[in-house]
Amino acid sequence: EGGAGARAFASGMAAASAVLSLLHSGDRIAASRDIYGGSWRLLEGPAKRQGIIVDWVDMTDIDAVKRAMDHEPHQVWLETPSNPTLRLIDLRKVSRIARKAGALTVVDNTFMTPAGQQPLADGADLVLHSTTKYLNGHSDGVGGCVVSRDSELDLALAEIQKTVGAILGPTDAYLVIRGIKTLALRMERHAENALAIAKLLQRHPKVQQVNYPGLPQHPQHALAKRRLRHFGGVVSFDLGRRAAAKRFFSKLRLFTLAESLGGVESLANHPATMTHAALSEKERQSLGVTPGLVRLSVGIEAIDDLKAELRQALG
Ligand code: PLP
Repeated sequence: EGGAGARAFASGMAAASAVLSLLHSGDRIAASRDIYGGSWRLLEGPAKRQGIIVDWVDMTDIDAVKRAMDHEPHQVWLETPSNPTLRLIDLRKVSRIARKAGALTVVDNTFMTPAGQQPLADGADLVLHSTTKYLNGHSDGVGGCVVSRDSELDLALAEIQKTVGAILGPTDAYLVIRGIKTLALRMERHAENALAIAKLLQRHPKVQQVNYPGLPQHPQHALAKRRLRHFGGVVSFDLGRRAAAKRFFSKLRLFTLAESLGGVESLANHPATMTHAALSEKERQSLGVTPGLVRLSVGIEAIDDLKAELRQALG
């Protein structure tokens, strides 16, 4: 990530909690509305209980980001591309606005990994990862890390890490180091397979909408091409109705139904009842997390097997 230092934690959420611990009661966070459901739970629950004020902002709208700075936030939190709708945020613009307002920009880079984008180079101050996902890559460990732009932030996080004890265990650390050795290769294959699947889904009559930044039809494809080195391994698509999504999941043989993502094997997830179940129906609707939305973490298997699986599951 090109940072001054990195700290490893017991999970992605432990890493996110450490970043929160840099704040004091009464401090403010401007957070992207389009964020992992667990991070939403962390900010809505423990953060608010600790007296931190959270403003939810549509960060695809740069004017909304500028307006959010009127509240003088201490941190600006975002994910790009977002989970599960894969919308992009112009990180360079947001981090410039945040810096001018005196706020730290915190980017969860779990989906892209450093092989896809390096947020510090685009002006971020802290980068979060759930190493449980692509960095480990084999779905056999849980972990997280925070990379800091400067050593002062890194030392503050080291102090929190040591004090609260949310460290990464040695076996999990070993497994992440093992995983990182093949990260670049795996990401290439994840992205190649995901693009092929996104194209297949787009042509399928039962699919209403496909979200993947690598598709020319994606509303921010031009931004994705400028900023991302690969388009990632996550694809989401809408089957219209919950019953249709349920039927799709029941027919899967190769994809495993799971909340996680980023392993070598393909996984499928129903955001409305799994990763984003904590949000209200209204909040989900406003974010595009519809009842028929399916999220795929496309693995590195032979593409013909994945295509055959999707064709049979879509019936
Ligand atoms: N950030 C993102 C984007 C995630 O998808 C997840 C988990 O799904 C997390 C953070 C949390 O990571 P962990 O499960 O390692 O606590």
